[in-house]
Amino acid sequence: MIVPFNDLKRAAVAQAAKLEEITAEVIGSGWFVHGPHHAQFERDLAAYLGVPHILGVASGTDALELALRAVATPDRDVVVTVANAGGYTSCAAVAAGLRLRYCDLEPETLLISPAALEPLLDERVAAVVVTHLYGRIADVAAVKALCQPLGIAVIEDCAQCLGARNADGPAGSQGDLATFSFYPTKNLGALGDGGAIATSDPHLAAKIRSLRQYGWRTEKYRVEDPAGRNSRLDELQAAYLSFRLTLLDDGNRRRRDIISHYAAAASPLIRVLPVADEAHVGHLAVAVADDAEALRAHLEAAGIKTDVHYPVPDHEQAPWEHFRSGPLPVTESLRGRILSLPCFPELTDAEVQQVGAALSTYGATR
Ligand SMILES: *Cc1c(COP(=O)(O)O)cnc(C)c1O
Repeated sequence: MIVPFNDLKRAAVAQAAKLEEITAEVIGSGWFVHGPHHAQFERDLAAYLGVPHILGVASGTDALELALRAVATPDRDVVVTVANAGGYTSCAAVAAGLRLRYCDLEPETLLISPAALEPLLDERVAAVVVTHLYGRIADVAAVKALCQPLGIAVIEDCAQCLGARNADGPAGSQGDLATFSFYPTKNLGALGDGGAIATSDPHLAAKIRSLRQYGWRTEKYRVEDPAGRNSRLDELQAAYLSFRLTLLDDGNRRRRDIISHYAAAASPLIRVLPVADEAHVGHLAVAVADDAEALRAHLEAAGIKTDVHYPVPDHEQAPWEHFRSGPLPVTESLRGRILSLPCFPELTDAEVQQVGAALSTYGATR
């Protein structure tokens, strides 16, 4: 039996009747952008997170770009972030005309290291983007403690972490701003692209409301913000997302159970992330091993499909190489050592066991 890395069809087919009903309703309404479903989804996500302001936008990368535009100034044009999170923040920062500094990771979690962050901060820095990678909450409190005295904004990238919470509250409620992606593979996925920004600050909310629609602030057709864009979440996606938000916690529980199974079954040669604590929603199940290529071949032979998140760190991508400043030993140590395992709520128990069994026998025959 082949275990797919992901299969978006399973959820879509299981939900087909409801998704078709929603589609027909939106078609019949004749309202396709910024209508009642968009307003409802913004309220639904605000209630779910306990954050007063949610702004729907067209993608997670747009959410990052608009959040960065909202806090950067000509004197503060540097963004600090990690280099192992797929490059979305780098892409958004460059689109917003900003520069980057890359920060190294905690070796246990592969999330931002506050100790490595401290020497990177100064009065040129507009924002630190904290990526809650693989579905686990990073240490936002420690990052905030470093940033606040310097007037630096903290932006949580929650694209992989919607639904996680720790002692300080939900992911997305802890920084000055938080960004979300509803790309189809995310824990809350649309049937297309989508994104959102969360904030408790009414001034930042008003700024982003203007930036997402051409720079219109007080009335339509009057441009007041020079950095305005068009970045909207459409009515169909918003309606699908309100429905799927009601299923999110169940899906996240299933993802966590799958990762716990992998972690318990895996051979001592494999470490499985995120580590099992309350603060993760299992977006990705990542195996760390000395030779990820050998593990990949072992799993492939057992019919299991895998992927790598992410194969090339940002500071080794050609367009961003010039942002490299100091060494990033933990980030660089991941080269050839990480492998993502199948992890989505619709995996069957038999498939999960097949992956667990293959993880348990890795290295036994070598
Ligand atoms: C998917 C993702 C994004 C980008 O979201 P898009 O909607 O694809 O633009 C940003 N950050 C992280 C961590 C992601 O996983």
